[in-house]
Amino acid sequence: MRVFIVHAHHEPKSFNGALTEAARDALLANGHEVRISDLYAMDFDPISDRRNFKGVGDADYLKQQAEESFATQEGGFADDIEAELEKLDWCDVLIFQFPLWWFGLPAILKGWVDRIFAMDRIYGGGYWFDEGYFKGKRAMLSLTTGGGPGPFSEGGITGDIHTHLNSINYGIFRFVGFDVLPPFIAWAPARIGEARRKDNIEQYVERVLAIPETEPIAYLPLSDYDPKTLRLKTDE
Ligand code: FAD
Repeated sequence: MRVFIVHAHHEPKSFNGALTEAARDALLANGHEVRISDLYAMDFDPISDRRNFKGVGDADYLKQQAEESFATQEGGFADDIEAELEKLDWCDVLIFQFPLWWFGLPAILKGWVDRIFAMDRIYGGGYWFDEGYFKGKRAMLSLTTGGGPGPFSEGGITGDIHTHLNSINYGIFRFVGFDVLPPFIAWAPARIGEARRKDNIEQYVERVLAIPETEPIAYLPLSDYDPKTLRLKTDE
């Protein structure tokens, strides 16, 4: 496998750091290839504006998706975006490693998605979901939380974690064509003690090495939707 890990934690000695390091070491030891974008270490700029582009489509009005189309066709993307696009094209598997912040992605990682997954380069013109640009590749979230699994399950005060993660799994990964694997969640690493943290790291290594055999999350295929209304055919 060629695995691309996008790592979003500002502390190298964090538990997130330990998970990425363990995954990298295990993958390399088993003959796989790994590339890591350590966003804080790279000082990755998460802000989307004209700096995303080498050229200018419309100098009077900045419409990001229109400029992305222009950049795809002729203008070109900034070098830091092109570098990430090249890693995405290279990989078979994409992993996001991050601490859950406000029920979602830390801003630096959300900004990475906002800048890199560009219209007409990564999606658009009928390329989405089953027919998406990354068709045939796999993606997986690996995250840590502050809260435990009880509050984050159905009926819990913070709500079902899988509902929160759906905006990433379906709204980002599946939207651009990935087969999405179930997330790896290290619950509340700051509160569980050393022995369980070590277990978590071992479980994560097992999950990462098992990626080729892991069953993706089942989503409805595009063919279930009416191409005009984009609603389920059974609604009609
Ligand atoms: P750390 O605190 O870095 O690590 C935990 C422990 O693991 C430490 O003791 C560390 O020394 C130890 N460790 C490191 N390496 C190893 C190793 N190799 N072996 C064993 N132990 C090791 N939480 C929620 O649940 N929901 C939210 O919506 C949410 N929003 C947040 C928003 C913000 C802005 C912030 C700052 C936090 C939020 N949190 C939330 C909490 C956050 O998700 C957790 O603090 C984070 O996920 C914990 O992961 P970490 O890597 O930072 O842990």
